[in-house]
Amino acid sequence: MVVEYQQDVQDDPPAGEKSGTRPALLNPLFADVGSLEGVGPRYAALLGKLLDAPGGGGARIIDLLWHLPSGLTDRRAEPSIEETLQGQLATLRVRVKKHFPSPPRNSRAPYRVICEDETGEIELIFFHTERAYIERQLPVGEIRILSGRIERYGQKLQMPHPDYILPEEQRDKLPELEPVYPLSQGVTQKFLYKIFTQSLARLPEMPEWLDRKLIASREWPAFGASLRALHRPGGEAEMELNALARMRLACDELFAGQLALALLRRRFRRTNGRSVVGDGRIAARITAALPFTLTRSQQVALSEIGDDMGAPRRMLRLLQGDVGSGKTVVGLMAMARAVEAGAQAAMMAPTEILARQHLETIAPLAEAAGLRAALLTGREKGKTRARLLEALAGGEIDIAIGTHALFQPDVAFADLALAIIDEQHRFGVHQRFALQAKGKNGGTDILVMTATPIPRTLQMTHYGDMDVSKLTEKPAGRKPILTRAVPIDRLEEVIGGIGRARQEGAQIYWVCPLVETSAKVDLAAAEERAAHLRQYFGDTVGLVHGRTKGAEKDAVMKEFAEGRLRILVATTVIEVGVNVPAATIMVIEHAERFGLAQLHQLRGRVGRGAAQSSCILLYNTPLTETAHARIDILRQTEDGFRIAEEDLRLRGGGEILGTKQSGDPGFRVANLPFDEDLLQAARDQTKYLLARDPDLTSEQGKAARICLYLFERDEAIRLLRAG
Ligand code: ADP
Ligand code: MG
Repeated sequence: MVVEYQQDVQDDPPAGEKSGTRPALLNPLFADVGSLEGVGPRYAALLGKLLDAPGGGGARIIDLLWHLPSGLTDRRAEPSIEETLQGQLATLRVRVKKHFPSPPRNSRAPYRVICEDETGEIELIFFHTERAYIERQLPVGEIRILSGRIERYGQKLQMPHPDYILPEEQRDKLPELEPVYPLSQGVTQKFLYKIFTQSLARLPEMPEWLDRKLIASREWPAFGASLRALHRPGGEAEMELNALARMRLACDELFAGQLALALLRRRFRRTNGRSVVGDGRIAARITAALPFTLTRSQQVALSEIGDDMGAPRRMLRLLQGDVGSGKTVVGLMAMARAVEAGAQAAMMAPTEILARQHLETIAPLAEAAGLRAALLTGREKGKTRARLLEALAGGEIDIAIGTHALFQPDVAFADLALAIIDEQHRFGVHQRFALQAKGKNGGTDILVMTATPIPRTLQMTHYGDMDVSKLTEKPAGRKPILTRAVPIDRLEEVIGGIGRARQEGAQIYWVCPLVETSAKVDLAAAEERAAHLRQYFGDTVGLVHGRTKGAEKDAVMKEFAEGRLRILVATTVIEVGVNVPAATIMVIEHAERFGLAQLHQLRGRVGRGAAQSSCILLYNTPLTETAHARIDILRQTEDGFRIAEEDLRLRGGGEILGTKQSGDPGFRVANLPFDEDLLQAARDQTKYLLARDPDLTSEQGKAARICLYLFERDEAIRLLRAG
């Protein structure tokens, strides 16, 4: 989930590798936006920001084309001056009557121009506008077409800064329906409209990848026509979720996703697995060393995993369980089984902190069970790293715990039978693939652990038909977390409260939100809060944020875990899996800015021990309806699966959240659960196509390849090539 990518996590292969075999047909779409007329380096950079292009620059035409309008400006109303209404967006045909330039010594007064038609007069208002420009645009006595917002004060009518001023013969330049795009600094609607005209003209004719019967029965337009329709809607109806063009593109997108997953899955099935059966001797020692007994859910999951590992095919299983449900131990027991069978196992976490924490949890148990465990992250360098690699390759290490550093090309295992990937959504599909390829004959079993309960629809889009185990119960002895929502103007009260709790020995997390637009502001908010809290609590207050360097971050986390720091102020870097059972209070500032799943994850940091825990959601008013609903749900339940469903339902309602959600595979057009039936259609298409044309060599198969490239599911195509 957490969305804050660590710098060292590389999710994408280099561009060269990606573009290598892309069909030439698509090249115009993958060209840089800089290749558009009127887009120089400055605009290219602005567009890079707007489109959130990787690395802040280098947006491509395709990125632009997926930037879809969020509304529509309708300029079709053509009232006479007399008929105009206050606030109306109107297109008028007028004669220019008289100019009133700003008086020379008062440049702040507006420049006014009176225009008229048979029914009345209207005053155009210009602030800070060059006189020559106005004179050129509006010569006295000429007919002009104006389009803009009407302001009516009794009998007096004004149009401040018309959007369009055109001579009558250029009337066709006025867009009657103008899409409204989300903007960012320096980018205007008019500019976007212009470059979209060019970009849409570059859309090649695509072959049809969907089944003709489906297209016909749904009356869907072709891909290109659909994309054009989204950018040039013919009316409000075409902006709706059920507009044919949007449905078609959503189906395309879901189809690309389903096809990619199906290819991955097939590749998995094709490669022979091996039967990994342990004798239970190490597992028994771990069980004996555990200070608790496994929950029933944990036992069920373990036996499912055991069956998979024992079967002669490859395991690809998802272990879903809320934060604190005890996935680590399940993973460890599965690793034990691999080692009992004489092989090795690896557990990969998305960040340094999590990898270290896993090792800390696992080390004493591993010791008790005689397992040789080691840590491999980006920070092990030089000789240390070389020695580690040697030990891994020589089979002197039984279980390796680490970050993506585990699947760097030079890392070799003697015999990797099981790879566990924790918090998987941070990793791309191809990374999963890279780790698994490190086994003998690529025969590694894969267990993916995720703390994000995933609604069924998303599970399909994100994981295809992966096998799933769920941890549905919390370890015994946990008390429900008291959740309260408090407006920020009661901050001092909250500080007083945590002061008292601190006196009684409580430890406190204090989370400040990630402000998407600026890492600096984010930092400042957390730093400011830490400084504020230090006025009360001195140096028992620690701070970690996205820029805290590895070693320093570890040090702070360690001091908090060991209780020397009582209060930890953090941006969302406090990772999903971080485990400090003594921490019992979670304060979340700007709770209204977080998504439901993320709030749930953050809250899950507390309530891990036997003591009563609480979560305080500090919010800034006014709350939107959705933010209100999110907070309500959170107060009602701690059931992650229910929260996930509610989350999807709320988001399906259309509010764009401030933060990217966990479990969200980042669709550009598709909208779940609204598009659930399209997901089904996409699955059917995939099955049907692969049954008839498993290698995608038929006409439709080749078209489907293009669809994969278009939606950048390239990794699936690499699988096709790899056979
Ligand atoms: P997560 O599923 O979030 O990864 P962890 O594996 O970190 O959860 O477990 C959270 C805490 O619960 C740990 O301190 C772990 O030792 C403890 N735990 C795990 N299983 C049980 C159990 N069956 N009974 C009691 N405590 C448990
Ligand atoms: Mg965990």
